[in-house]
Amino acid sequence: MKLVDVHCHIYHEMFKDSFDEVLERAKSAGVKRILLSGVNPEGNIKVLSYVKKHPEMLRASLGIYPIDALGIEPDGTGLPVHKGAIDLEQQFAFIRDNLSHVTAIGEIGLDFYWVEKEKTYVQQAENFRRIIRFAKEIKKPIIIHSRKAEKECIDILEEELPNREISVNNHCFSGKKNLVLRAAALGHYFSIPANVVKSQQFQMMVELVDLKQLLTETDAPWLSPYADKPSEPAFVGLSITKIAEIKKMTPEDVAAQIWQNYVRVFGEK
Ligand SMILES: [Zn+2]
Repeated sequence: MKLVDVHCHIYHEMFKDSFDEVLERAKSAGVKRILLSGVNPEGNIKVLSYVKKHPEMLRASLGIYPIDALGIEPDGTGLPVHKGAIDLEQQFAFIRDNLSHVTAIGEIGLDFYWVEKEKTYVQQAENFRRIIRFAKEIKKPIIIHSRKAEKECIDILEEELPNREISVNNHCFSGKKNLVLRAAALGHYFSIPANVVKSQQFQMMVELVDLKQLLTETDAPWLSPYADKPSEPAFVGLSITKIAEIKKMTPEDVAAQIWQNYVRVFGEK
């Protein structure tokens, strides 16, 4: 089976000393591609350095997380920190300069969990629209994190991508049934993390969405399927077995379809 983890943060300080082992375990588990997701300029630099070191396996998704863009610092996430608001144009220029190493743009989106919607909606929405337009220009798929902002994200994506100009993957989607169906009808993809083994939210999504629109991820070190250890790409096979169980298919068939979806969305050969 060829497995893929389309969203993780293994450049997190937690993996500083175990990075090579984490990659080895992923390889042994059949993982062929891992997308590292940046959230700010400092993180994006780190993502690129790892991807250049392991071009056979790692791919870069460069992002501008909404909170980082505003210059609000969620403390102690363990990811590289950016001081002050992000200059979007500067970051776009950086991404263009490294375009041959860039597979996707993300994570990006809206976040009304860490900051109040009333105070930040206008600025967050404007940043989000600018990043979507940029991704459209450079023709790269986008990876969305919509935290307590699922409907608002879908509204904006629907407006900005009237002709489905680029693929959209919803990472860690927490919206209700009707929003899952609405995004699916717009052709969005959903990446299912390994903690689908215990999360009813993700199980519901697997039930509702066509397998052709599903992907797999781990969000390592977060969203772990285990209570006592952080997530890592090697666990992505758990998503496959759970999806197979729900869809009443063999894991082999599910993995093959997810791999095809990955190739379609991210332009991989
Ligand atoms: Zn993430």
